[in-house]
Amino acid sequence: MPLATILRTWTSTAISSSRILLPPSLMFMSTLAHSETALLNPDKNPFLRWFLKKTFYAQFCAGENPAEVRRTIDGLKGLGFNGVVLGYAREVVLTDAQTRDLAACNDGAAAEECVRDEIKPWAAGTMETLRLTQPGDFVSLKFSGAGRQALYALTNRLPPSPPLKKAIDEICDLAAERNVPLLFDAEQTAIQAGIDDWTLAYQRKYNTKPGHAIIYGTYQAYLKATPAVLGSHLAIASKEGFTLGVKLVRGAYLGSDPRHIIHDTKEDTDNAYDSITSSLIRRKWGPTLNQDVAFPQVSIVLGSHNLESMVKARQIRASPESAGTELAIAQLQGMADEVSCELLMTRQNSGSELPKEGAKQQPSEAPRVYKYIVWGTTGECMKYLLRRAHENKDAVARTRQGRDAAWAELRRRAKAIVGLA
Ligand SMILES: Cc1cc2nc3c(=O)[nH]c(=O)nc-3n(C[C@H](O)[C@H](O)[C@H](O)COP(=O)(O)OP(=O)(O)OC[C@H]3O[C@@H](n4cnc5c(N)ncnc54)[C@H](O)[C@@H]3O)c2cc1C
Repeated sequence: MPLATILRTWTSTAISSSRILLPPSLMFMSTLAHSETALLNPDKNPFLRWFLKKTFYAQFCAGENPAEVRRTIDGLKGLGFNGVVLGYAREVVLTDAQTRDLAACNDGAAAEECVRDEIKPWAAGTMETLRLTQPGDFVSLKFSGAGRQALYALTNRLPPSPPLKKAIDEICDLAAERNVPLLFDAEQTAIQAGIDDWTLAYQRKYNTKPGHAIIYGTYQAYLKATPAVLGSHLAIASKEGFTLGVKLVRGAYLGSDPRHIIHDTKEDTDNAYDSITSSLIRRKWGPTLNQDVAFPQVSIVLGSHNLESMVKARQIRASPESAGTELAIAQLQGMADEVSCELLMTRQNSGSELPKEGAKQQPSEAPRVYKYIVWGTTGECMKYLLRRAHENKDAVARTRQGRDAAWAELRRRAKAIVGLA
């Protein structure tokens, strides 16, 4: 890894694992993410943009234009990653009040404004994201980024409005044509049932090739309801004969979703995550996921920085119990680099060659390793960066591990320079 990356990792993890430095940093980032003034908007203030671009942005984001994004992706593949999960940074995070007062935005001038200023830029950005990737990569997609019409329909569990449906259809067609699977992100619980409805509808249409999903839904293991929801989706896939694309994460909205719907302890979340992972990789029902039908074809993406969970997944994959499904593991760019590097090294040591772009995954192949990274202007990425910072607050112990690993590597390199290592 380049020295600059390790130095940035050490600085960002040192700040986010410090009880003294983290609160003012969060306040500073929140101000930048929500400010309308030219002085505090990184897209309007060149000095602020320069500072952020060299620090936080460089740590977590891919680039502001296609040339920068391609350079970052090539750099990651050069390090040995199988590819990237690329996302377009534009996103909206709803407050409770906004969720309650969402206007339909489906009529007259307001509707035109929604299509012109929200749906079209989101769709254009997502199509561009697909064009920036290669077969073997993934593209992640956040429906809330499409603005008010999307939020209104999702909150009320309605189908997408006609202009939004046209945009999503075009995005899915391009993904299928380029063979770049789409990962639909899981979001706040207020809109998640709506997202699940849309995801299932698109999975039915596009996931017709056995064992190879083009559309993935995301399941948050911290929700008490997830085993039932995922179980019912698996049962539907089994009965209707399509492949269920499953991206499994722990869940990023601990601070904003109602606490009672989330597991009471971190340990419960960890157990749910590992148990669901085990069922998916073996394609066998278990104590957490249990339905009365044959287990369907699945394609799996595990999104996590938790090394213990990733090692368990890898062990099941290497055992005779593995069902040989498509299996990818992904970490966010700028986070848990020590976990990503350990997974990459084990994959290389297991003799799994770096496959050609888009090559079919072999049943016994070690999980492929990816970095999840977003692109967009510095201003567009601020809300994404803020969410990452909040997420680190929920995982202080892991952040400290990242800080210590970066520090150990810096010391190792310094000793090597003076001939002591
Ligand atoms: C590739 C990728 C894609 C992602 N996509 C999404 C997405 O679409 N939607 C989304 O919501 N998140 C997404 N995330 C973020 C993810 O949900 C987690 O917030 C993040 O990865 C931290 O969890 P972890 O598995 O890395 O492990 P850890 O650091 O071991 O776990 C931290 C997580 O544990 C849970 N937790 C912490 N404390 C408690 C507690 N007291 N009780 C119960 N649970 C607790 C929380 O989920 C917290 O985020 C993604 C992450 C990755 C790597």
